[in-house]
Amino acid sequence: MSGLLIKSPLAVLGHQDCAGIVLRDGRIAEVLKPGQAPSARVDDVFDASRHVVLPGLVNTHHHFYQTLTRAHPQAINKKLFDWLKALYPVWSRLTPEAVRLSTRLALTELLMSGVTTTSDHHYLFPADLGEAMDIQVEEARRLGIRMTVTRGSMNLSEKDGGLPPDSVVQDEDEILADCERVIGKYHERGEGAMIQIALAPCSPFTVTKSLMCACGDLAEKHDCRLHTHLAETRDEDAFCHSVFGMSPLDYLEDVGWLNSRTWLAHGIHFSDGDVKRLGQHGVGVCHCPTSNMVLASGQCRTRELEAAGAPVGLGVDGSASNDSSNLMEGVRHALMINRLTYDASVTHLDALRWATKGSAACLGRSDIGEIAVGKQADLAMFTLDELRFSGAGDPVAALVLCGAHRADRVMVGGKWRVVDGLPVGVDVAALRAAHGEAARRFL
Ligand code: ZN
Repeated sequence: MSGLLIKSPLAVLGHQDCAGIVLRDGRIAEVLKPGQAPSARVDDVFDASRHVVLPGLVNTHHHFYQTLTRAHPQAINKKLFDWLKALYPVWSRLTPEAVRLSTRLALTELLMSGVTTTSDHHYLFPADLGEAMDIQVEEARRLGIRMTVTRGSMNLSEKDGGLPPDSVVQDEDEILADCERVIGKYHERGEGAMIQIALAPCSPFTVTKSLMCACGDLAEKHDCRLHTHLAETRDEDAFCHSVFGMSPLDYLEDVGWLNSRTWLAHGIHFSDGDVKRLGQHGVGVCHCPTSNMVLASGQCRTRELEAAGAPVGLGVDGSASNDSSNLMEGVRHALMINRLTYDASVTHLDALRWATKGSAACLGRSDIGEIAVGKQADLAMFTLDELRFSGAGDPVAALVLCGAHRADRVMVGGKWRVVDGLPVGVDVAALRAAHGEAARRFL
């Protein structure tokens, strides 16, 4: 059996004095203590004496297409609803080629920041975009990153009391048929899955209750996960009370989503009682610190949610509200905003846990998010060679406190996907030029 020894790492998250990590058949086979040798022959050795080793980061919320509208002049400096209303007409011009380039760019950025598993919430299906999910799967496979592709949707437009214009919504039958199609075609189950499908009606103010209920039933039938935006802003809270006569969480329960199949993006404006219910039912929450600060949405109650039993993960959120796709940057922002909300007892290890084990739990996965025997060989390795790290003492803390931005090596399922800071098989300059050209059409 061939194997790779990650030898003498500078530091490993979750392991004191680790002398090496042995990888075989795409999994972690051994975590060596000082003086311990691999139990069987290894074919390759990677000297990691300059590297801080983390489990591959897991990003649980994004909108890849938004990389095309970063720092958009019509949208900057606005709150969520005004920001969305400014951008919906711009996004309605999305084409298959723009979806492909934005997906490729976002996945490449994520890989370079140490992400080995990501989700994307694609909910825009203007005419000619029927194959958006297929394009995303193709791009993820091409780059070798794990992905939970969420089949998003919107079917409540302005004429029916929703927020988006008619041009970007679909009808319920069309949405459900495509959900069934992509689940049947792509959804992998079990350990080591590279592509999974989740169902993701966009938010209370963009979909009907009927669609929420139908997606809940489909997810149960096919054993896949459910995702949506919830409790992101006070405006959404007011919308739910005005249109549905209940809070966002009561709405979630009303449509049959209050269960451990669900993970929510943002989860900010929850009462003490809401937090308790989320924990009791095992609903995951993806904390999006950067986006929440940019849109002045508020602060996720991470500590109370985890204490109640709800998994808490981390997400970069869409690149029009971030405006990057760098989850290591998100880890640092999570530390800082949570320090402000709570106190200095929130540590870099909390922020790193959200981006790894917590995020994996949000996606319903126990095979990733940790460096432990039997887990997938998904690793993100950072050097401390840049000027920003000079003088740093604790190597793991340094990644977060000094602002690590770019991984030196990234591995997914035992295969190198980033080598010497560059993505394998991607011409970064050509991608930058093509994406930049495509983005100009959205100005
Ligand atoms: Zn979002």
